[in-house]
Amino acid sequence: MQAKPKTPIAQREAALHKRLAELGERLEAIEVELDSHHNPDWEDLATEREGDEVLEATGNAGKAEIGQIRAALARIEEGSYGQCMRCGEDIAEARLDALHWTPLCRSCAP
Ligand SMILES: [Zn+2]
Repeated sequence: MQAKPKTPIAQREAALHKRLAELGERLEAIEVELDSHHNPDWEDLATEREGDEVLEATGNAGKAEIGQIRAALARIEEGSYGQCMRCGEDIAEARLDALHWTPLCRSCAP
């Protein structure tokens, strides 16, 4: 079987920027939603708080991913993108397709 042709780095970069923009919008929406709950008229506080925890967890996951994406963009800039940060091997294209920002190859990933 032929190896999958390498995806051009510019395409990876575009995908990362797109994802970054999506996450930014989502986080903004979450903050707005959370802010709107600081409302004394709110009736069902317990349910509300539960919802807020979910929102906050989503927000935190989003922030973590943003950090990963920024790091990946920095690696693109310095030319080390696509190489495993631990063992230095090339990260498989299929893995990069699934996780654009991953800094580790499959054998090094936790
Ligand atoms: Zn590795």
